Amino acid sequence: MMKDETEPVPFRFALTDVKEYGEMDVAAQAPAEAFAGVLSEGSLAGPVALRGVIRRADDDAVFTGSVSGRWRFECSRCLAPVDGEWSETFEATASIDGGPMDLTDEARQSIGLAQPMKVFCKPDCKGLCPTCRMNLNTTNCGHTPTVDAPDTVRPRLTQRRKKG
Ligand SMILES: [Zn+2]
Ligand SMILES: [Zn+2]
Repeated sequence: MMKDETEPVPFRFALTDVKEYGEMDVAAQAPAEAFAGVLSEGSLAGPVALRGVIRRADDDAVFTGSVSGRWRFECSRCLAPVDGEWSETFEATASIDGGPMDLTDEARQSIGLAQPMKVFCKPDCKGLCPTCRMNLNTTNCGHTPTVDAPDTVRPRLTQRRKKG
């Protein structure tokens, strides 16, 4: 199915009122689907909200505000789903005579910036048993505990040791 012509532009605002009154409050929501692919892991859960104000500054329109929403990741250690709220502030500038101000790309970039490197269901998550893959937060499987299981606790070794 071709949908190129109807690609959503949820955060586009006419600047008529900004020109006339000097500033304008903006608030809009877009479905998570409009931002598919912005997260390298996890997914957005629920709509993306943008709110802020667009002010005139000489020949520019300057947006100051934030995007926010909810997302869902897997715990980096035990793979349990982790729901959370996110919010990221940003600024953007456009020519006041350049037509509607489109903040969609800036919003998309801001979501990417808000994404954490690692997500844990709780700070002391015990992770999965390396032997039987049971969730050690909820189960005592009886295997010897290995707190420093290298594949769950330190996935980003800076140097890999070579043997021989
Ligand atoms: Zn966990
Ligand atoms: Zn086990």
